[in-house]
Amino acid sequence: MAPLFVEASCLDCHARQGYRIGDVRGGISVGFNIDAVEAAQKRNLFLIAGLALASFLALAAIIYRLVHGLRERLIDAETKLRYLAITDELTGLKNRRYLMERLHAEIERMRRERKPLSCIMFDLDHFKRINDAFGHETGDRVLQSVAATTKNLCRESDVLCRFGGEEFLIILPVTPLREAKEVADRLRQAFMSHPLSLPDGRVVNVTASFGVAWAPEVERETDVEEKDLLKRADDALYEAKAGGRNRVISIP
Ligand code: GH3
Ligand code: MG
Ligand code: MG
Repeated sequence: MAPLFVEASCLDCHARQGYRIGDVRGGISVGFNIDAVEAAQKRNLFLIAGLALASFLALAAIIYRLVHGLRERLIDAETKLRYLAITDELTGLKNRRYLMERLHAEIERMRRERKPLSCIMFDLDHFKRINDAFGHETGDRVLQSVAATTKNLCRESDVLCRFGGEEFLIILPVTPLREAKEVADRLRQAFMSHPLSLPDGRVVNVTASFGVAWAPEVERETDVEEKDLLKRADDALYEAKAGGRNRVISIP
């Protein structure tokens, strides 16, 4: 409600009635129905809140997907990296670095469990001649075939490794020397009796020499050094080479 003041133009008609400029001669009231506006305002408020919530949820979902995807890719990359770091690319066997880590852990485990541990070191005979006669690529295929045969003839719990070049090493946990020698001889015979056939009809004969050693100290709970065990296997392998190759020599 607003006061209705007398202005100069009012006096044209109302001067005789004693009106004076500035007098209050009534009031003006203007009324609006704003129920509809308030209802619309309420609806808009809900709409805005709903949109804000939906936007927030959509943003959160996008961020979650991005982070989740990145995390999965990171885990994949880490797994791949770890695999590459411990695997020999050519044969798919474990590499020397992995073997040294694992040998230490296996010796400790066998010591705790009071079980024997053996290892077999073998080296392909006159491999250089194979490369020279058939080419490096065929030499690579021989290495792959030897690795596959070794995998087939060993237990799941054995650790197979390409130790370097054409030299391989197998850790045999829970295996006494006698059994390890049997495994080595089975491998020797398998290599000898399965020459690699080439597409042109030629065959590549492969033999290997084996050195076998074990760590009886594990059972006696005295210290076993990985390098001592490997040295004994290497000495035995050297003897097998010197003795004419294609044989198994063990160091008790
Ligand atoms: P031995 O019976 O005394 O062991 O004779 P060997 O010829 O096998 O031994 P030597 O050490 O003289 O030669 C090893 C050869 O193995 C030489 C090297 O070129 C070859 N060699 C090493 N790594 C690889 C490889 O990854 N692929 C191929 N194709 N050849 C390899
Ligand atoms: Mg050799
Ligand atoms: Mg060698």
